[in-house]
Amino acid sequence: MNFEHSDKVKALIERLQDFMALHVIPNDQVWWDQLAAAEDRWAPLPIVEELKVKARAAGLWNLFHTHARHGAPGLTNLEFAPLAEIMGRVHWSSIVFNCSAPDTGNMETIERYGTEEHKEKWLKPLLEGKIRSAFSMTEPEVASSDATNIRTSITRDGDHYVINGRKWWSSGAMSRDCEILIVMGKTDPDNADKHKQQSMILVPVKTPGVTLVRNLPVFGWDDAPHGHAEILYENVRVPVTNILLGEGRGFEIAQGRLGPGRIHHCMRNIGMAETALEKMCRRLASRTAFGRALADQSVWHERIANCRILIDQARWLVLNAADKMDRLGNKAARMEIGMIKVAAPNMLQQVVDWAIQAHGGAGVTTDSGLAYMYSRARTMRLVDGPDEVHRNQLAKAELGKYRPPRAK
Ligand SMILES: Cc1cc2nc3c(=O)[nH]c(=O)nc-3n(C[C@H](O)[C@H](O)[C@H](O)COP(=O)(O)OP(=O)(O)OC[C@H]3O[C@@H](n4cnc5c(N)ncnc54)[C@H](O)[C@@H]3O)c2cc1C
Repeated sequence: MNFEHSDKVKALIERLQDFMALHVIPNDQVWWDQLAAAEDRWAPLPIVEELKVKARAAGLWNLFHTHARHGAPGLTNLEFAPLAEIMGRVHWSSIVFNCSAPDTGNMETIERYGTEEHKEKWLKPLLEGKIRSAFSMTEPEVASSDATNIRTSITRDGDHYVINGRKWWSSGAMSRDCEILIVMGKTDPDNADKHKQQSMILVPVKTPGVTLVRNLPVFGWDDAPHGHAEILYENVRVPVTNILLGEGRGFEIAQGRLGPGRIHHCMRNIGMAETALEKMCRRLASRTAFGRALADQSVWHERIANCRILIDQARWLVLNAADKMDRLGNKAARMEIGMIKVAAPNMLQQVVDWAIQAHGGAGVTTDSGLAYMYSRARTMRLVDGPDEVHRNQLAKAELGKYRPPRAK
């Protein structure tokens, strides 16, 4: 396999790196300062809005999108990987290029499974970066890593569906820009095939009966301005045309949606890990303890080397999964996606943990930026399915090669 970037991608990498160096990295503190000073923590930050205009003008817009539309160059997953990695180096930067979670996964969902009306109404403003979206599947009452447990009901009543249920961890829903929710629930809870009970439906945030109950902080961070909402759906009525793909097709959509969304997270994780490793090396090279630079202690050589090995392993797994998605489709690449979904967050968590250790007390303050990275890394091991679920699938496939065939 040859993962050498094409000239087109090399040029994009260079332009993106220049943009990051000129506009994003120097404004990292501005971002935090604006958030701290914001009267409304859920309002979009002026620095981001300003940079979105510049990124679009620079042709660095919708880079995740596999179709050449709405300013997107129409890249494959493999081509997008190094670009997402660069964005991942600064946690808030993806939105500047309209490439942030959960919008990329949601846009792909509407693109693939929505009607022309859905696309006009929701995909177009999402691609233009005018609105944001959230994916509302997880519920507080049930173990949601098994999506067959989902209880929210979607009941047909004439020309409408009526939705009742409680969700949480709907990332992005707190944002004042969030206008559309993709909600997963059950249209046919008694169907003998438990994978046909579920559907996905588009619910505008402003529909009567939708209540944003609270934001869920992560290790104390509110993750503003996007947040993670607990949402109550009480007799929420939407037109029947809001259903995606059709009743009972929710699982099918979930499989398609989570492919790109998952791998984008992993690509960004690699960029974040590079930032953590850079901080770690700079810190170790600048401090002396017990008569020697910290960087000269062999334990740190071992950890630094291991970081490089872990990061590069994750990068190759990402590229391999992206390549398979491009060539054979998301479904065929599900094992590779599962592998990287376990490997990248665990790699990131380990690299950030060592970087924190290298910083001593500074590592756990907000000064170093590492504590926040740790919170992101740790949650990534749950988001889009916990590690165990992906490992189980991988193990089943592996064991399946050696189990005796079942008696018919
Ligand atoms: C920061 C953050 C953002 C999120 N964003 C979203 C979002 O935008 N939309 C959304 O719908 N959800 C979102 N989630 C929810 C996330 O996808 C779920 O938390 C995750 O799928 C696990 O579901 P659960 O919390 O119900 O845990 P449970 O299903 O109760 O699982 C608890 C634990 O049980 C173990 N476990 C589960 N299954 C198995 C198994 N088969 N074998 C062994 N052990 C197992 C795992 O250790 C797991 O962590 C987000 C979560 C976080 C933390």
